[in-house]
Amino acid sequence: MAMVAKSEGPAIGIDLGTTYSCVGVWQHGRVEIIANDQGNRTTPSYVAFTDTRRLIGDAAKNQASMNPINTVFDAKRLIGRRFDDASLKSDMRFWPFKVCDVENKPMIVVNYKNEEKQFTAEEISSMVLVKMREIAVAYIGLNVNNVVITVPAYFNDLQRKATKDAGVIAGMNVMRILNEPTAAAIAYGLDRKESIADGKNVLIFDLGGGTFDVSLLRIEEGVFEVKATAGDTHLGGEDFDNRMVNHFVQEFKRKHEKDISNNPKALRRLRTSCERAKRTLSSTVETTIQLDSFFQGIDFHTTITRAKFEEINLDLFKKCMEPVNKCLKDAKMDKSIIDDVVLVGGSTRIPKVQKLLQDFFNGKELCKSINPDEAVAYGASVQAAILSGEGNIEKVQDLVLLDVTPFSLGTERFTGEMKVVIPRNSTIPTKKERASKTVQDGQTCINYRVYEGERPRARDNRLLDTFRLEGIQPAARGVAQITVCMEIDSDGILVVSAEEKSTGNKSKTTITNNSKGNLSKEEIERMMQEAEKYKLEDEENKKKMEAKFALVDYMNTIKDMLSSDELQDLSRGHKKKIEAAVRKVRHWLEENQDQLAECEEYEDKREKLENTYNRIIAKNM
Ligand code: ADP
Ligand code: MG
Repeated sequence: MAMVAKSEGPAIGIDLGTTYSCVGVWQHGRVEIIANDQGNRTTPSYVAFTDTRRLIGDAAKNQASMNPINTVFDAKRLIGRRFDDASLKSDMRFWPFKVCDVENKPMIVVNYKNEEKQFTAEEISSMVLVKMREIAVAYIGLNVNNVVITVPAYFNDLQRKATKDAGVIAGMNVMRILNEPTAAAIAYGLDRKESIADGKNVLIFDLGGGTFDVSLLRIEEGVFEVKATAGDTHLGGEDFDNRMVNHFVQEFKRKHEKDISNNPKALRRLRTSCERAKRTLSSTVETTIQLDSFFQGIDFHTTITRAKFEEINLDLFKKCMEPVNKCLKDAKMDKSIIDDVVLVGGSTRIPKVQKLLQDFFNGKELCKSINPDEAVAYGASVQAAILSGEGNIEKVQDLVLLDVTPFSLGTERFTGEMKVVIPRNSTIPTKKERASKTVQDGQTCINYRVYEGERPRARDNRLLDTFRLEGIQPAARGVAQITVCMEIDSDGILVVSAEEKSTGNKSKTTITNNSKGNLSKEEIERMMQEAEKYKLEDEENKKKMEAKFALVDYMNTIKDMLSSDELQDLSRGHKKKIEAAVRKVRHWLEENQDQLAECEEYEDKREKLENTYNRIIAKNM
């Protein structure tokens, strides 16, 4: 894996969202959020596969209802999770695409070019990353390799590592994995340098499409210190959509005695309408759903009020207040000393969410002045500029970020208890050690189990890794001096080692082993090669489509010419000949419309048509 030197080329910031992604770059002394080829400043995190090609972003989402089972989204809800994960099980009921179990790793199954293909969530995310980079390259006009990618603050070690792997598969140099609320805090803080000169306590409330994060920061003299973080990696706009989809599935059942819940096409159309209705209900109190010939020819026209929407989601909305409470508690701060509550993420536009949050802070005005869709990419772009050593950025060069780890990390004691080595909300990067002992006489090896979580019994927490220290000098129990060292880097990724100090005997592990849910080095290498192959295929497809377009365009030109004044004098026989040649090509196109032909074939047809046309015209000159 070639590592790119830090200073090589521009660096971009990517907010890799569950539902939408956003990319930015630092240019001319400020952040530019970059619009995609459709003119949108956020891009759906969707990848679709068809008989002929792969689509990413708007193009993928737009064809979702025609091709639901091969249109993949929500990779962020899969990434770094095992197949037996409870939340994955419940999500799968809503996904039209297939997910299968390969050694407890969830694999997404699609049909691409009439062949069944399996992809990991890392690969799907890498495709979204490739698209985001393309958007940036088109704007900047230079190659881009260096990126900062954001993740929810509440992502665990496996999810962080998997996201970084996605970047590597996409062929990028991931300079940093940055927490989303911290990135948003940069966007907030940079704009208000003057007003926060003497320090502020800021609570970032980031409710997006699939994840929810709360972070509490102290911002003072360019230092952004995260005091605590809390959240839920499985709560967001899509859950609200799911509730509404369920609501209408029931309503349709009542009205028509028909169950649509096994029809992916109908569900996809309903979901799209529900998401739109949900957005509308943030600004109006009632809206309609209009789905013509929705199911077995039946139209589905109905309404939903904001009150109903709030009713079916109230428990979820209330659930959003728990992490706020936890975060304040962990930071040992009373809500009265919070200076600003900052809204980030599309779902913070929901009036009821705002109302509950405002009530929680005893009626305090919420800060809505940063763009909820772009703040994360904004902060990531600033961080990218700093890390790429654009040292002359006066505005940001002395900005310091002190982030924290969201979970306690430790190892299992021989008693089964969790021995915490790094407590949650410790500032990162960090390195902590603990002493470990042999428990039997003559013991020569120790198996370690590494966990993250807050429960006192180790196996109630999440098992991250197991490793083994061998070759311990045989001695009476408790004599060997062994040190367990846990180190979290700036990306929030953990490395654990154990060492017998007297002998220098050491065993070290990064959480990378496949059995733990992450990809091995070999798998990443293979996926990088495949990603390159898909990219070339996409480029090849683009060329084919351009060649096809040129042919169709030429046919249209001839058609226009034939009916124009210029060719008035052309004999009927000659006209017919040209028309016949065009018709022949049209037939050929129709026969091959499901498959793209080779570029040369299109070019060849075009050339032949041109020759026929020119020959006939020349005769008439
Ligand atoms: P993520 O980063 O998780 O992809 P975003 O912050 O981009 O999420 O927010 C996307 C979510 O916000 C989607 O679920 C979308 O439906 C929701 N959303 C966007 N605008 C509104 C609105 N006006 N009212 C309610 N929800 C909205
Ligand atoms: Mg987001």
